[in-house]
Amino acid sequence: MMVERMNESSAGQLKEDLLGAVKALKTYIVNQDKLSVSMDWEKKTKVEIDNNVRAINEGQELSRTCQDMAECQLCPLGKTRRNLVFGDGNSNAQLVFVGEAPGADEDAQGLPFVGKAGQQLTKIIEAMGISRKNVYICNILKCRPPQNRNPLPEEIAACEPFLKKQLEIIAPRIICALGTFAAQTLLKTEVPISALRGRFHSYQGIKLMPTYHPAYLLRNPSAKKFVWEDVQIIMKELGLKSVKK
Ligand code: SF4
Repeated sequence: MMVERMNESSAGQLKEDLLGAVKALKTYIVNQDKLSVSMDWEKKTKVEIDNNVRAINEGQELSRTCQDMAECQLCPLGKTRRNLVFGDGNSNAQLVFVGEAPGADEDAQGLPFVGKAGQQLTKIIEAMGISRKNVYICNILKCRPPQNRNPLPEEIAACEPFLKKQLEIIAPRIICALGTFAAQTLLKTEVPISALRGRFHSYQGIKLMPTYHPAYLLRNPSAKKFVWEDVQIIMKELGLKSVKK
């Protein structure tokens, strides 16, 4: 009888101990979960803060470069421009589009790619599943050549350091060179755009994709399929999914 009572009491004690252990384990697991969530949050916030600080610094540096060249008269286009068109977009962009030179609309507004060709470029960007404000857009020349004539070699030589500085500050993952002048200037080649497009080249260690200029697409809509091919290569590299139907 005595032995049975002792067994009953040890079994009760064991049950209590087990319940206590289970409770403690449960509390420990909950606390670990909370801790790991909080650590992830802290990590994520730090990355976000770092990115924001970088974007602010790059934005300020770009603004300074823009201010420094506001009165530029290094080539004759300085005398005929209405507005200098420095560039526009995200100073921390992974993708930069470089065109040829401002046209009449751009000269009037002081912004790149705002005319019909600009609308075409916006469509291309949106088909990539991103918005215009997430990329950076600029040109080889910052001032409009009269009657939209082709840029002259001496104008390109005078203006190119500004573009180099922009690209250095933004340090994108990919540059998309729009049209012959942008591609040939950045790649230092005379190879035609039709032979350059379709694959990545390298500009100062940055992947560069040459493709047709949006203005060319307005005159030759059949070339859109080639631009779409080039853009898809860029999207694959950036891990983007198309929204084009
Ligand atoms: S095109 Fe370039 S180099 Fe020529 S005046 Fe304009 S900013 Fe200066």
